[in-house]
Amino acid sequence: MAKRDYYEILNVARNASEAEIKQAYRRLAMKHHPDRNPGDQVAEEKFKEAKEAYEALSDARKRAAYDQFGHAGVDGSAGGGFGGPADLGDLFGGVFRDIFGGGMRGGAQSYRGADLRYPLDLTLEEAVFGTTAKIRVPTLVTCATCTGTGAKPGTKPTTCPTCRGVGQVRMQQGFFSIQQTCPRCQGRGTIIPEPCETCRGVGRVEEQKTLSVKVPAGVDNGDRIRLAGEGEAGEHGGPPGDLYVQIQVKPHPIFSREDSDLYCEVPIGFTTAALGGDLEVPTLDGRLSLKIPPETQTSKVFRIRGKGVKPVRGGPTGDLLCRVVVETPVNLTREQKELLQQFADTMEAGGKRHTPQQGSWLDGVKKFFEDMKF
Ligand SMILES: [Zn+2]
Ligand SMILES: [Zn+2]
Repeated sequence: MAKRDYYEILNVARNASEAEIKQAYRRLAMKHHPDRNPGDQVAEEKFKEAKEAYEALSDARKRAAYDQFGHAGVDGSAGGGFGGPADLGDLFGGVFRDIFGGGMRGGAQSYRGADLRYPLDLTLEEAVFGTTAKIRVPTLVTCATCTGTGAKPGTKPTTCPTCRGVGQVRMQQGFFSIQQTCPRCQGRGTIIPEPCETCRGVGRVEEQKTLSVKVPAGVDNGDRIRLAGEGEAGEHGGPPGDLYVQIQVKPHPIFSREDSDLYCEVPIGFTTAALGGDLEVPTLDGRLSLKIPPETQTSKVFRIRGKGVKPVRGGPTGDLLCRVVVETPVNLTREQKELLQQFADTMEAGGKRHTPQQGSWLDGVKKFFEDMKF
């Protein structure tokens, strides 16, 4: 069962002051306190619910986390204190599965509007540095023409003639008389003789709305941002659902990301690899000079500290890992080929081993064939 909204529990506005929240909690606590309602399970639940809501909203940090991420933002604190970013580790984890599983609409909240999910594509830069995105969302909103009643302006819903407003009808089946939901009014007890032309009597219309979403720096694939109350309008005046903006990061031509680290491949010429040199490498916020030591082998990874991503849930900024790929020269002139041949001859004449891996590789191959013999 999904949890109720904390503001809704305390019956305060989302921008309520600390004093208002405290006052609302006191009132509820007085009313539902177990000492005043011995043995009353419902009161006890209400008391617990109000206490939890108050604990979250009276703490500025928890409240901020709740406003941004919903229950998931504060649930990590259920056991102990709200110990900072580490508790937010499961921020976007299993908590949301219930919501999208459709369990939300059952029970006492059946008139609450549905939650919506909106996939938001971001570039890697936007995800790393944060951005404000404008999104257009199709949603059901209360019909302005009939203010949600479904009746044509100037007319009113009237008592259902089939059930005379009871919402139930009796059917005779043999000896038995069975009570059934009225088929004409679906149990509402009223019908709309002249439906609103805008919404055809439904009371809600589909509309595109533009929302501004503040994406915090450091978000990653699969992260969700909750926009409370921006989901579908509720039925029959019920509260609206929430909108969940789901982050999808587009592939980047240069960098790939793993948690807080960034990876990139940097091609280098084989003379630089052999003799060493300075190499310009890209970072997300500019260029950087990287010292390549002599005798650098292909696939060598250089770690540049602190040039990765600062994670949205806190913690240290990641690193940039540059993997060098030594390139074989192409389009050689006759002269260059001759120079390389001369170079190769000196390699063989010198009597020194110039290929650090080839020796052990050849030994491995030899052993492999020997092992195969039996
Ligand atoms: Zn209407
Ligand atoms: Zn009826």
